[in-house]
Amino acid sequence: MKISAPRMGNLHLIIRDLADRFDLDYVEPPVFDEDTLKIGAALAPETACLPLKAVLGTFIKLLESGCETLLMGGGSGPCRFGYYGEILDRVLSREGYEFNLIIIDPPSTSIREFYNGIRKALPRDRYRLSKVARELLLALRKVGLYDEVEKFAMALRGIELEKGIVDHTVTEANKIAAGAYSKREINAARADIQNLFNSIPVDDPSGHLKIGLVGEIFIVLEPFFNFDIDRWLGKRGVIVERSVHITDTVWLSAKNPVFGHSEHEIARAAAPYLSCEVGGDGLLTVGGTVIFAQNNFDAVVHFLPFTCMPEVIAKTVLSRVSRELSIPVLSLTIDEQTGKAGVETRLEALLDLAQGSKLRREQAAPGLLPAI
Ligand code: SF4
Repeated sequence: MKISAPRMGNLHLIIRDLADRFDLDYVEPPVFDEDTLKIGAALAPETACLPLKAVLGTFIKLLESGCETLLMGGGSGPCRFGYYGEILDRVLSREGYEFNLIIIDPPSTSIREFYNGIRKALPRDRYRLSKVARELLLALRKVGLYDEVEKFAMALRGIELEKGIVDHTVTEANKIAAGAYSKREINAARADIQNLFNSIPVDDPSGHLKIGLVGEIFIVLEPFFNFDIDRWLGKRGVIVERSVHITDTVWLSAKNPVFGHSEHEIARAAAPYLSCEVGGDGLLTVGGTVIFAQNNFDAVVHFLPFTCMPEVIAKTVLSRVSRELSIPVLSLTIDEQTGKAGVETRLEALLDLAQGSKLRREQAAPGLLPAI
């Protein structure tokens, strides 16, 4: 059976890795474009949030190219994501497609359901539990590797002394990561990748702006929807870091390993502004913004899909965070009508504000930011 899953940042790399491990006939999902979004938006419920429309468009393209088995993440908590598998199933059936949709709950919700979902995607009775568990753990370890490559790239692109060397290194590093399967190979790949990035000649970072990216994971991770913000900022000499990574969605513990802060630390940072879980990435958006402010970032860009309830709540709270911690925050609401030119104009204005904020902070005595 031909199998595939929607894109979301590095997710396709990890599905490809799992397909290699279990000898599945994997079909790479198409890169998001206007056509995919148009197909999804035409058939999805009008008020559905952007990720559903984008995933629906992807699934239709995959089914029309001969793929029959589709993987979709499940979810729980106060956001609509948990219903999306069911909605996709109904819309695709209504449109007359024949398919097998497998909904996989994240391991943080239920390890048993996660395992059961993965099991449905594997040929029946071919793999023992021990083999499935071992390969899954290795694959999860590898997701972190791809995320670390992105983290290095965002940190270094804005200060590279040789134009284009970071993007070139990303390609090399991803090739190294793709070839690592065993624990020993993944550890060796991690060391090689660190060496590659450490050897890049860079400018003194103190003269460069630092900007944090927060928001709904799908938009923050997908370049088509965030207008390739990592590169856009990198080209303008900005050091970038994000609060969300694909590892967070599949990691077994409560640590967001790539961002480097546990859920407890994030909730504690957010607590003066937002003290309860609001679904999706809302709490992480607020906590992440506070952590960026505490770490002397010069501004934060917040991405939210139109009609995303958790991020609308976070947006309301962020205006107070911005005021009290003196950090400019730009919230960008993204839907299928959002135009690149308008977003770029607002980002340029944010860079001016961030420059002013950096100057003021450098002139002020250290330690003025409130410690939380
Ligand atoms: S987090 Fe927001 S955009 Fe994402 S599924 Fe939930 S409501 Fe939709």
